Amino acid sequence: MADHKESKKFSELLEVARRLGASDAAVIPTSGICIEDELARLCEEPRCENFGASANCPPHVSGPNGFRELLKVYEQAVVFKLEVPSSALFSPVEGLEVFGLLQEMAAGIEQAAIKIGQTRSKAFAGNCCKKLFCGDRPGCRVLHEGGKCRNPQSARPSMSGFGINISKLMESAGWSIKKAGGEGVDTETATLCGLILIG
Ligand code: SF4
Repeated sequence: MADHKESKKFSELLEVARRLGASDAAVIPTSGICIEDELARLCEEPRCENFGASANCPPHVSGPNGFRELLKVYEQAVVFKLEVPSSALFSPVEGLEVFGLLQEMAAGIEQAAIKIGQTRSKAFAGNCCKKLFCGDRPGCRVLHEGGKCRNPQSARPSMSGFGINISKLMESAGWSIKKAGGEGVDTETATLCGLILIG
């Protein structure tokens, strides 16, 4: 009975992911999430333009060690993917739109999980929420005013700051990754990915 309830819960979340626009979504064990310190270090060296810009980016997030600690209390996660035209990633306007959508989808799945009783669920996506949602503001409200996030229904931390290996994350969901402009792959579309720890 418990297994039936468990699988119904995850089916609902996968359905929410697809409804929000995911081309696919899967449940993976958190043991399939690979964390690499050197990936997180790339945010700082060479320094990403978003380094320090928001409460959801390094050095203001707990990083690889914090994420390893977090994983100890989660057993399962939902991974979803969003296929976008590669050209969008090279366009300043469309690039913001697709990553904004990715963060909103991750947040939406997280909120759906919370609604069905998984109240510790946490979502992670890509890019920087300052650029995506607070671009016209002088600074991140959390960092500069000690206030609440202006966009709690949308803004989520980037997986990069925690050193999450996205290629391996997708492999653990059974997907191959398509990188914009990558050799030997479909160059028309690129795959973006989001992660929600369910607990
Ligand atoms: S206030 Fe803006 S920049 Fe700061 S965490 Fe929220 S969305 Fe990101």
